[in-house]
Amino acid sequence: MGFVLCPECKAEAPEHTAACPKCGMPFKATPVVKKPIIGLVVAAILGAIGLWWALSSFMAGAIDPALCAIMPALAPCTMLNASVNSLGNSILLIGVVLTAFGHQNGPRVIRITCILMLVATILLGGWLFSLVWMYSLVSGSLNAMEPQFRAGFVAGIIGSSTGGIFVWGVIAIFFRKSRTW
Ligand SMILES: [Zn+2]
Repeated sequence: MGFVLCPECKAEAPEHTAACPKCGMPFKATPVVKKPIIGLVVAAILGAIGLWWALSSFMAGAIDPALCAIMPALAPCTMLNASVNSLGNSILLIGVVLTAFGHQNGPRVIRITCILMLVATILLGGWLFSLVWMYSLVSGSLNAMEPQFRAGFVAGIIGSSTGGIFVWGVIAIFFRKSRTW
């Protein structure tokens, strides 16, 4: 247990006491710094999964070459998405480590990352949707796909976009500004 100095009589008093035991001077309540354990665990797990997913997109080449042939703009869009997600999840994990070690700015790093990643996910998702929309209207390539494959493709796009928004939103709620730790 630590000690604090009484501002009035300079006597030592145990930490977290309401008043000085010597002169009775009331101490200001020191805010108890509690770590957002659940939020940290959730952010660490989601960040690790997100980073793994983004990095494996690079390694796997992200999308089928046959798909790239009919929708060429899909490749840079997916690569940018994987890059942004690698970066965002890495910074998120750094924020988690900072917060776990009690660094004051840790929660702020996490919060700002979540907000930026929410915006990025919405923009990239919008780009992806409009690409697919354009390709299906202009070249009919979406209709040329086998129905099963098309369903999986569309579900994948919708799933990854809404999943990303959900994940960053959940972490942002855990680390929202109004929460006092
Ligand atoms: Zn005192």
